[in-house]
Amino acid sequence: MNITIQDIALAMQARFEGTAKTIDIENVSIDSRSLHNNASTLFFALSGQNHNGHNYIPALINKGVSSFVVTHVPKGMAGRANFLVVANTRTALQHFALYYRKHFNFPVIAVTGSSGKTIVKEWLNFLLSPDYNVVRNPKSYNSQIGVPLSVIGINNKHNLGIFEAGISMPNEMEYLERIILPDIGVLTNIGSAHDEGFTNRKEKIQEKLKLFTRVKLLILQKSKAVEDLIPKGIKTFTWSYGKSGDVTIKKEVDANSTLLHITHKKTFKVRIPFTDAHATENGINCLMVLLHLGYSGRVIANRLAALYPVELRLEVKEGINDCTIIDDSYNTDFQSLKIALDFLEQQKTHTQKTIILSDIFQSGFSKKQLYKRVHRLLTAHNITRVIGIGKTITEQLADFPNFYPYKNTQAFLAQFNSNAFADETILIKGARSFRFEEIVVLLEEKTHETVLEINLNAVVHNFNFYRNKIRPQTKIMVMVKAFAYGSGSYEIAKILSHHKVDYLGVAFADEGIALRNAGITTPIVVMNPEGSSFSAMIAYNLEPEIYSVRELRAFIALAQVKNLSLYPIHIKIDTGMHRLGFEEEHLDELIALLHNNNFVAVKSIFSHLSASDSPDFNDFTQQQIQLFEEFSATISKALQINPLRHILNTSGIYNFPDAQYDMVRLGIGLYGVGNNTEEMKQLQNVGTLKTVILQIKNIAAGESVGYSRKFIATQSTRTATLPIGYADGVPRAWGNGKGYVMVNNQKARIIGSICMDMLMIDITNIACKEGDSVTVFGTNPSVVAMAKTLNTIPYEILASISQRVKRVFYKE
Ligand SMILES: *Cc1c(COP(=O)(O)O)cnc(C)c1O
Repeated sequence: MNITIQDIALAMQARFEGTAKTIDIENVSIDSRSLHNNASTLFFALSGQNHNGHNYIPALINKGVSSFVVTHVPKGMAGRANFLVVANTRTALQHFALYYRKHFNFPVIAVTGSSGKTIVKEWLNFLLSPDYNVVRNPKSYNSQIGVPLSVIGINNKHNLGIFEAGISMPNEMEYLERIILPDIGVLTNIGSAHDEGFTNRKEKIQEKLKLFTRVKLLILQKSKAVEDLIPKGIKTFTWSYGKSGDVTIKKEVDANSTLLHITHKKTFKVRIPFTDAHATENGINCLMVLLHLGYSGRVIANRLAALYPVELRLEVKEGINDCTIIDDSYNTDFQSLKIALDFLEQQKTHTQKTIILSDIFQSGFSKKQLYKRVHRLLTAHNITRVIGIGKTITEQLADFPNFYPYKNTQAFLAQFNSNAFADETILIKGARSFRFEEIVVLLEEKTHETVLEINLNAVVHNFNFYRNKIRPQTKIMVMVKAFAYGSGSYEIAKILSHHKVDYLGVAFADEGIALRNAGITTPIVVMNPEGSSFSAMIAYNLEPEIYSVRELRAFIALAQVKNLSLYPIHIKIDTGMHRLGFEEEHLDELIALLHNNNFVAVKSIFSHLSASDSPDFNDFTQQQIQLFEEFSATISKALQINPLRHILNTSGIYNFPDAQYDMVRLGIGLYGVGNNTEEMKQLQNVGTLKTVILQIKNIAAGESVGYSRKFIATQSTRTATLPIGYADGVPRAWGNGKGYVMVNNQKARIIGSICMDMLMIDITNIACKEGDSVTVFGTNPSVVAMAKTLNTIPYEILASISQRVKRVFYKE
């Protein structure tokens, strides 16, 4: 769409500095790493605490971007591009979206609520796309920035919008309402998510309802508490399991599905292929929209019967022949393709990049336009090989270099040759109807069904949580020792280096070498280096912690032999932990050795707190900090140096922010474990250990389960056996009735002793079948709760998860 620069300037009340009269904007970007068709990109230089978009402008101009929204024109850039100068670039993005939105006039459905937003939006898209050209938020882009970006995705072929909006604080919804401008509202539900941002539940409901101030109709489950807060004059369309709603529903749940008896004028039946209460609620909310739009009971029943689990996440898995697989096999649309390619870009493991891509649906563009854009996008992301599956893509992308066409998934599977894939990253991205999960099965390295799922969004969330607790100039070292507390060090290190962490900390040299081999270039400190590994450390550019005179002498001797110059080292001081480090009596010798020594350079001086998590020992901690202050000053003064100083671990960051010095060392908090409930509430769970039900048995009263007959049934009992045991890292003490796992959202007690590779649970009152997924820990039970019951610490449980448990990383 062609918009004049004057119009844009006017819309966001910007001052224009530049030469262009009109710019043809096809693309709005806020991420300097993610760009394509640069000439028609409008780049918003957003600034956060940790980054400043203005810094990337010179590089972006060199890449051909010519239009920027800024708070000031960076030095030396005047005259080299078009600048729209505003007071706040984030607000300007919202103003631009608002202005852009007004060019379109078709019905828009807005969805909000505490949970289920994304699922309802995706399902509505699935249910309505046979009849409409739908535009919606990609993935769950529902924030103050995600919504404007989603709305800017509208084009003139679209004739229905479905947008979700999420808020975490008061006063956010008003903006989103103006940008989305909805006609029909859906309130999914009100739960406890984001309670901490609001003074009470009522305030949160009122804030959510602001999305619906101008809707013609609001769909929700009957609730007096909510309805009392809905502004007068807004028409509602409610449902209930009882008699009170406009639509009344009776449900019958069986093993695999839920049958709904719907009464609205007439009565009809709908079967949805889910059993849990949340999925049913989400399905009903969608059904309400269809009813309102005038669909017949028969069409509604047909379409709802085909609902599917929404998989929005990108999963990283180990593939055959040393490949890395990025599995995004459940949807394709242009926006989510862009997101997946950006994610692929972060996977620096391989230089070869293959994408297996199906036809793309519902873009709103003509085929030609769409694939022209896809072509550019793939080129911009340096994709080395494209395997196109589907009738349209094989025609439209035929001129892409290194293009392999297949008319359908069956044809690809029939000709599949595993040797055609080696040492590369493979992005698998297909619309649901293409069933690319069958391709994933062939390319994935096979292991048993137990996996530790790592939520990379949660890692980033937790990182930013602690980032925001410290001063912007304070650096962060993230501890990725012990396989990143069990979470898998490469992926954690990769995502962190993408988010510009300053340092990584490992325990041993080989951990650091593995990170270097995986392409990590961030500085790495080795915390317990051994003399035998010094040479390897130097070869891989790893920086040693130096904790004793003996070690320092040895390292300097080697540095001398290798003729190193100012090799970075980190001096560890013992202020009371009494594990490793220099004590006061060693300082003179330390200083003497370093004086006028140009083989090494003291990059940092640090110490470790022994009880920063415990208020009982505050005096002791303060004393440690005091000693650190003195010793580090003595060394710096004597050597006339100004190294980084750091002493805080996770609980230190939380409890002693005044002692953050120049850097902090974040460990357990990144993985979602804080040291009190307040802190925990603001962190997100990172790891979820999952397995499946292998076999189900019915035993009679008096029969026993497991070794040493530790469990004797007092009544007839249904049990399930899971292929996970203490060798995988489930503590043996968690068995014999102490612990539980979650089966279909219900607690199932572990009965009998946990075996090496298996354990048994009681499922007498739980609807489930063989093959069903089981959560061993994650949000519930949490490792924190487990550790408490078992009299240990979460660190031990996390770090004990066996390497034989496959790690699957995902990003939402
Ligand atoms: C492990 C470790 C940390 C991180 O501690 P957390 O309590 O996990 O935050 C920091 N510094 C050193 C020296 C460590 O060994």
